[in-house]
Amino acid sequence: MTRELTYVAPGRLEWRDRPDPQLQAGTDALVRPFVAGRCDGDVLPLHHSVSRAMQAGVKLHLIDPVISDITGAVPFRGTFGIGHECIAQVTSVGEDVQDLRVGDVVVVPWSVSCGECRECRRGITAKCSTTRELSPGSALAAFGFGPSCGPWGGVVTDSLRVPYADRMLVKVPHGLDPLRVAAAADNLSDAWRSVAPALGESADGSVLVIGGGSRSIGLYAAGLAVALGATQVDYIDDDADRLATADALGATVREVSRRRWTSVRSAITRTYDVAVEASSTEQGLRDALRALGPGGVCTATGYYVGAGTKLPVMDMYATSATLKAGVSNVRPRLPELLDFVARSDFPAEKVTSTLLPWEDAPDGYAAHTTKLVLHREPLDLPR
Ligand SMILES: [Zn+2]
Ligand SMILES: [Zn+2]
Repeated sequence: MTRELTYVAPGRLEWRDRPDPQLQAGTDALVRPFVAGRCDGDVLPLHHSVSRAMQAGVKLHLIDPVISDITGAVPFRGTFGIGHECIAQVTSVGEDVQDLRVGDVVVVPWSVSCGECRECRRGITAKCSTTRELSPGSALAAFGFGPSCGPWGGVVTDSLRVPYADRMLVKVPHGLDPLRVAAAADNLSDAWRSVAPALGESADGSVLVIGGGSRSIGLYAAGLAVALGATQVDYIDDDADRLATADALGATVREVSRRRWTSVRSAITRTYDVAVEASSTEQGLRDALRALGPGGVCTATGYYVGAGTKLPVMDMYATSATLKAGVSNVRPRLPELLDFVARSDFPAEKVTSTLLPWEDAPDGYAAHTTKLVLHREPLDLPR
């Protein structure tokens, strides 16, 4: 049997046993995670009784019914293996795996993709049609979201089966500290896609980050924008610790005192080429879009579950703005992200606000902290 960190109910997690994963196809690999980050999105079912609230919200037409396509008809119902951000060691490979060897240290992208279907070839690996067939009716195939997203399990475990291993797994560059890229499987990559493509080759643009909701993504985005050479990076939040982290990453911080639904417009005094909405609020989305200058690009990184989110489309028309929404397609961008972090020495680990021993996962995973990372020693594997 293998242990898996299991979500039971809000605030309640346990180690539970499940059968040892086996190689099921020649293209499979087995890996042993030894660094795991807690995705910003995992905070939702950990800290709130969202399951019943979401069911009621869908019934009352307050929440977009499409949520059921992602989380299943009963969102976040325990029990399920939680966690979908990890760095792992390859422990076993199928006979058709060519590019990986036992002992390789790899990033395991949060969504499971084949690398060959039409969607994967277009770079939208989070919408892989091959793997989604295994979770019928679901919008996603992913680790750590429960059976509605397939049979993959959570990554805070002793052994994990990864299909299409050559296409899925990306080796961590030699010399790059796995703790630095603990969130590469999801949140760090999400931040990368929010700033790097929009800033482009010249990277001389200005960037606004409205933080506080998808908490680590906002901080990674601010730090990456600075490291990419953006001329101005402004970070807005109401939390002193996160503001200090953004400051340490080189962003200009603007503190707001606000309740969740109020506008942060008063803290925005200019226009931006790039906006990252990481407050996970509708108002934040409107503020971010209205802050864009001509041709600006806003990426929405949070959950906007309301049925009928209002957007300032006339404002967007006037500025020729682009809004990018959607889960992040990690796999195609991982090599360039890891290469950038390795080359630039980007200190992503500054975003980690709590670092815990692996064994503390059941008590620690629900901690009220911006970015939780678990770690243990890698195995001494013959290479
Ligand atoms: Zn996530
Ligand atoms: Zn695919």
